[in-house]
Amino acid sequence: MTNIPFDQLRVADWWIDDNQIPPEETKPDLDKVVAVGIDIPYPNTLGKHEFKLHSLKVVGEVLSKESLYLAIIVFWAILLLADMFITHIKMREKSHLDEKQLKKLAAKSAIYQDKAEHDKLTGILNREGLSRIVDELHSTQLLQQYTLLVLDLDFFKKINDAHGHAIGDQVLQETAKALISCVRSYDIVSRWGGEEFVILFNCMDTSNILKFAEKVRKSIESTSFLNGKLGKITVSVGATSLARSELFEQAFVRADKAMYEAKEKGRNRSVVIL
Ligand code: GH3
Ligand code: MG
Ligand code: MG
Repeated sequence: MTNIPFDQLRVADWWIDDNQIPPEETKPDLDKVVAVGIDIPYPNTLGKHEFKLHSLKVVGEVLSKESLYLAIIVFWAILLLADMFITHIKMREKSHLDEKQLKKLAAKSAIYQDKAEHDKLTGILNREGLSRIVDELHSTQLLQQYTLLVLDLDFFKKINDAHGHAIGDQVLQETAKALISCVRSYDIVSRWGGEEFVILFNCMDTSNILKFAEKVRKSIESTSFLNGKLGKITVSVGATSLARSELFEQAFVRADKAMYEAKEKGRNRSVVIL
């Protein structure tokens, strides 16, 4: 048996001569073999030559059309899947980033909202902060469980005039502190503006309103402002309860009126108008 590798196959010389094939085109093209022959060397030796070919076996890898098409389809499918996978990874990374940014923005917006709803000087709720809480309590019909107190420092202008604005500011800060420590954690203390404060006190029993207003008033009266340097500072208190489904603004008018009554009656006192 003789093995002849494909690269040793040649196009027959006589055929090249007969057909006058240019030398650069004489390489065998194994894609479309239509005939295989065995040539003998020329000039050949004299005598009788006999060839017997028992069998011819072509050994090699054959790629059928079906396999070729299948290979192409598999190739593109893999490419497509790879592309989809990469896109998916990229989108996941991006959505992860977006989520992170959203969390950051939410945290920032919470900080800004907190700032917007608190008084810079005293740190307690300002009018906007109170208003948001009032809206929430109103929409859940819990507002009617509250008593409303309006407080105004007595002769505060004199403190400013006598000791300066900075000392006045300290008095406001200490007033806020005293009010916070005088109520329970679920009562709401806010600075309404200037030297005026508003307290929403959770109290269902209207007979207790005056008692509570007096407790607050006395706590300010007994506060030693600036370590006692300023003497007694007092507050006038107006109080009312919030009737069922009544608007905060309507109750506020009553409490404010009560506070002015307390001023007129000589200050440093509490008046309740129901
Ligand atoms: P009344 O007993 O009638 O309430 O007299 P009052 O002097 O407390 O009231 P008035 O309305 O005449 O004066 C309030 C003063 O509060 C005037 C204003 O300059 C001062 N004030 C308002 N806001 C601030 C603040 O943030 N800091 C300081 N230091 N003073 C303030
Ligand atoms: Mg005032
Ligand atoms: Mg005042």
